This record gives sequence, C-alpha cells and structure tokens, in this order.
Amino acid sequence: PARIALLTRDLRIHDNPLLSGEGEVVPLFVLDPRLGGLSANRQRFLHQCLADLRATLRERGGDLVIRTGDPVAETVRLAREVGTTTVGVAGDVTDYAQRRERRLRDAGLDLRITPGVTVLPPGAVRPGGGGNSYRVFTPYWKAWERSRWRVPAATPHRIAMPDGIAPGPLPETPAGESPDALPGGETEARRRLRAWSREISRYDEEHDDLAADNTSRLSAYLRFGCLSPLELALMAKADDSPGAQAYLRQLAWRDFYYQVTAAFPKISTQAMRPTADTGWRYDEDALRHWQDGLTGVPIVDAGMRQLRAEGWMHNRARLITAAFLTKHLGIDWRPGLQWFFRWLNDGDVPNNSGNWQWTAGTGNDTRPYRRFNPIRQAQRFDPEGGYVRRYVPELKDIDGGAVHQPWRLPEPVRRGLDYPGPLESHRDEAVWLRD
Ligand code: FAD
Repeated sequence: PARIALLTRDLRIHDNPLLSGEGEVVPLFVLDPRLGGLSANRQRFLHQCLADLRATLRERGGDLVIRTGDPVAETVRLAREVGTTTVGVAGDVTDYAQRRERRLRDAGLDLRITPGVTVLPPGAVRPGGGGNSYRVFTPYWKAWERSRWRVPAATPHRIAMPDGIAPGPLPETPAGESPDALPGGETEARRRLRAWSREISRYDEEHDDLAADNTSRLSAYLRFGCLSPLELALMAKADDSPGAQAYLRQLAWRDFYYQVTAAFPKISTQAMRPTADTGWRYDEDALRHWQDGLTGVPIVDAGMRQLRAEGWMHNRARLITAAFLTKHLGIDWRPGLQWFFRWLNDGDVPNNSGNWQWTAGTGNDTRPYRRFNPIRQAQRFDPEGGYVRRYVPELKDIDGGAVHQPWRLPEPVRRGLDYPGPLESHRDEAVWLRD
C-alpha cells in the first residue's frame, strides 16, 4: 500500500530516507499560511526548492503534491484520498515540529519518524554521567566523530503516483528582500556541492579570510534539506586533508546546536545561562544603526550590509557583528537574533539561537566573557580591507587596511567621505577606538 512522505526540511531525492524503500510513496508538502517564521527571503528560497523538487519527481514518473493549509489537516485529507494511514516525516527538534508530530499521531495516523535533518539524530550520542545532551562542544565533537553513522538512503529511480490524486498548484514564487541571494533547490545545491568538493582541501586556511570568501555557502541548502548533511559529512570524512577535517568539525557544530535545542527548546527566547542575561540596554537608535549598517565601524557595517544584500553573511562577520551588538553596544541578543532571522536564507532556530547565545555569553561558550575587538578582528581577517570595500561603497577609494579606521584618515579626506563617525558605545566608551 502507498504511504505518504510528509516533506518538511528535506527537499531532495538524494539520501532522503523518506522517499526510499519499498512500495509506493506519495510525497507531500504543505504550505502553512500561518507559518510566520518564514521571512520573505526564505519564502522565496522555499518556493524555488519546491519547484525544483517537483520537476525532478516528474522526470521520475511521480509528482510532488502541494497543498496549502494546516499541515495536519491536509495530511489527514491526503491520507484518506490515497487510502492509507502510514505517514513518514523527518524528525526535527523545534517546538513547531514537535507539536506537528503529536498532532499527526493524535489524528490517528501511523507516524514513522525518519532521520535526515542532521548527520546524527539528537540524543544518538550522550555525555557520560547521564545527561541528555552535551553542553560543551569539544567532547560532543569527539563522540560525534567516533560514532557510527547510518548508511545513506538509496536514491529512488521511480516515484509512482496513485491515480486520481491532484498534485495541486505551486503558488507563484514570492519576491524575497535580498537582491543577491542564492537560488534554492536541489539541482543548484548539487552543482555547488560538486564545485565545493574541489575547494574543500583549502578550507582550514581560508575559511576565516573575509575577502577570499571561500567557504562552502551551502548552509541554506542544508537548512531546507536540498543536501543531506550526512552526505557532506561522509564526503569530508573520506578526504583526509586538513581542510576537509576542519569542514567536518563545522558540520558537527550544526548537529551540536540541534541536540542543544532538543534539550532546551526555548533557546530562541530564553537564556541558557540566566545569570549572564542581565543588564542589557534598550537603545532603539543604536539598534537601528546596527541594522542599517551605519555604525561607523566599517567591518561591522560591511557584515550587516552583506546580510541584507545576499541573505547570508560570512561566519566571521556574524561573530563580529553579533559581538558588537551585545558586548560593545550592550544590547540584548534577542533583537539581534530576530534581525538575522529576518534576512538569513539559512536562518533556523537551533543555529541562529545557539550562535547568538554563544556570542552574547548566555549560551554554550566556555569563555562567556571573551571580547571581540572589531578593529583587531578586521585587521586579522580582512587585512587588506577588500571585504569592507566590497560592501561599503562609501569607502571604496580608501586603500589597504586604512579602510578599517576612517576616523584616523587626514581630516580633509575624512570630511569628503559620506560615511558616519563611529557610534558611541555607552557601555565601555568605545575602547575599540583606542590602540
Ligand atoms: P561553512 O564555513 O562552509 O561551514 C560548513 C557548514 O557547517 C555550514 O554550512 C553550516 O551548516 C555548519 N556551520 C558552520 N559554522 C557553524 C556554526 N558556528 N554553528 C552551526 N553550524 C555551523 N548557521 C546556520 O546554518 N543558520 C543560522 O541561522 C546561523 N546563524 C548564526 C548566527 C550567528 C550570530 C553566528 C555567529 C553564526 C550563525 N550560523 C548560522 C553559523 C555559521 O555562520 C553559518 O552556518 C555559516 O556562515 C554558513 O556559511 P557556509 O555554508 O559557507 O559555512
């Protein structure tokens, strides 16, 4: 008998345990109009993923059923049309996903939870001493790397659709907000994956070089499951170059935050270390300058403008901009997290929240009081200033590393720039401006 594959964060045919296996499978995606969590950028990306997956499935004799409405009600309705009660869905950790699982079961469906959103399902490795989840990365990484991973699922050659099931329309692709964002979809993801497999060995040397911009840029494809994280991890594991090993470690960070979130589902709103979650300032004006990329600190502004333009920001710039908001301006991490969440195509609850809490010192950082001096960071990771000049055109004529401290330029040059002076930090009187 046919079963339904309720696709969510796994919009691919390669290594998709939901679509492989014996028997007929009817792939379903439900567009939930109440899903406020999807920003305009991610709406666009999602639609591109759905269009691509539908085309792929059609080539294989099947289709992607697309319905709009409440995911549980629509799944129940399709199950009735198909004449089945068996529904598969990929296990996920957010509150939303957990509620959906409960409601599908309560609706009388025989729900099968499959892996695939992470390399290792949360809880697959546990710390000694009985805890449910790791709170510190290094021991997690060691256990993760040593553990046994599942065998990737076979790619289905054919997806047969039962007669008489209407595939349903895919609404027009919504306009995103970022003009230079990457397009969604498994086909594009696999093209980029092939290109990345030729670059990966240099990752350890180049991943922190802002101007070189040589990271995988696959995060949004992982976010929507256009690529299997297991496939990427196996690729990296099979390659013993230091670059591939460093890349593997980053994939483990992704899994790490999923298992943190499974144990601490309120991660996007509540501090994991409440004692460190005090003393935040509320300064709308400073927050807006940060959001607009007009703090007057070029490395911060470059990152914030990349975020808007591309719906993505380099990891080093995410660290610098998030630390600037929380540790220099002293502003609460939650509005920062929400701003990132609005723009990032890879934006998801576990990684966005986990990293924001890490940076703010309220989360899993073992050195929560560390400081990031943005000027020193800029000099180290963008020594020639190429990253700043790319995103802050007001400074494009300033040569070399001088671009990081426009306030030090000769007065006539400075006056000629259409660029603000640095925003005052009320917390520590702009220590980063001193030598
Ligand atoms: P690569 O450098 O090629 O890394 C490979 C993969 O490893 C990434 O695709 C990603 O899946 C994973 N990864 C890398 N670094 C991290 C990390 N620190 N934590 C978790 N996973 C990691 N990543 C998201 O996927 N979604 C988010 O919403 C998100 N928000 C962030 C917010 C802040 C404040 C910070 C500091 C980091 C955030 N990150 C987030 C992590 C990281 O910045 C991005 O995953 C990375 O920049 C994506 O680019 P890439 O694919 O080229 O990464």
